[in-house]
Amino acid sequence: QARRTAGVDKNLWVEFTQLAADYKPVNLGQGFPDFSPPQFVQDAFCKAVCGGPSMHQYTRAFGHPPLVKSLAKFFSRIVGCEIDPLEDVLVTVGAYQALFCAFQALVDEGDEVIIIEPFFDCYQPMVKMTGGKAVYVPLRPVSIPSSGDWVLSAEELASKITARTKAIVINTPNNPIGKVYKTEELQMIADLCIKHNMLCISDEVYEWLTYDGAKHVKIASLPGMWERTITVGSAGKTFSATGWKVGWAIGSGNIMKHLKTIHQNTVYHCATAAQEAVAQGFEREYELFGTPESYFQQLPAMLHLKRKKLASCLEGVGLQPVMPEGGYFMIADISSVSNPEHSKEFDKYIRFCFVKDSTLDAAEDILRKWS
Ligand code: PMP
Ligand code: GLN
Repeated sequence: QARRTAGVDKNLWVEFTQLAADYKPVNLGQGFPDFSPPQFVQDAFCKAVCGGPSMHQYTRAFGHPPLVKSLAKFFSRIVGCEIDPLEDVLVTVGAYQALFCAFQALVDEGDEVIIIEPFFDCYQPMVKMTGGKAVYVPLRPVSIPSSGDWVLSAEELASKITARTKAIVINTPNNPIGKVYKTEELQMIADLCIKHNMLCISDEVYEWLTYDGAKHVKIASLPGMWERTITVGSAGKTFSATGWKVGWAIGSGNIMKHLKTIHQNTVYHCATAAQEAVAQGFEREYELFGTPESYFQQLPAMLHLKRKKLASCLEGVGLQPVMPEGGYFMIADISSVSNPEHSKEFDKYIRFCFVKDSTLDAAEDILRKWS
């Protein structure tokens, strides 16, 4: 057994999926849609699959040309700089592989990587597998009602930076809290990145899912940050197609070339037809951007209602949810119904997923009977 596999053998999702299969509970845990992607990307996928031999064979290793072009075109407008489709974009097997390539390409043994707690679980084992060291800094609640009330202290963050700090990982909108970082908060992180010459790995898979006017801001769009940020995205979350496993990393070509080295020597390339469909999806969204027909407007509008439904369901049984400003998840303090030993800061909270209609309805039923 290689040392890099030690201590990373347990996986939350592997375990949960098995438990869910064995006991068939109402699964408010794992977050993925229980509905189909929008018709236009389904049609694009079907068309791609029936579109002749090239759609069934390898395409360009670092991303199918139509997809890297449409990602570059779409995100140039948002980041506010000219993104080069061939240099600055890497298509990956979901956001997971984009993160994996970033850590493997940029973090050396002994390097430190700052992770903001609470965090999506994979950052920790991925840092460990590089031989680097994860250093944690918590978001702290100044009050409970909204994820916006959970804040990162500049002093506390600065106190964690050492000569070995290579990068900081941020996740906005955040999984599990749903915090959407405000420009001032991102600027504080950016100032420290620039001052201490740190890279920023920004996981933005829930970028289109914001509520109540919260605005997603890309840290890569702040002055001096494009050249040190790797922005990670996912078609799984963008088009509600988690099973397609199309993701991407976007950043300056001189950084991206190292992620490409990892990619070409691990998976080499991703499914062609799925990339073609995602490219078509982005082309459509580029044209409809900001209009009510855009899926990037329709999806959050739909989830906004589900968020409300879960919140009132939890409140109905005496739990106090932290209202998320973004994402698929809501956390609630369960101390009033269960009394766990609070060994860690976040142990009294549990996370509920509100994207799946079938589980929301079933959970509502159970909780109503129980209360
Ligand atoms: N980052 C976050 C915050 C996630 O919640 C997830 C899982 N949905 C991923 C990355 C991985 O995304 P993908 O399914 O595209 O690999
Ligand atoms: N991102 C999803 C979640 O946080 C699922 C991740 C997974 O299934 N590996 O629930």
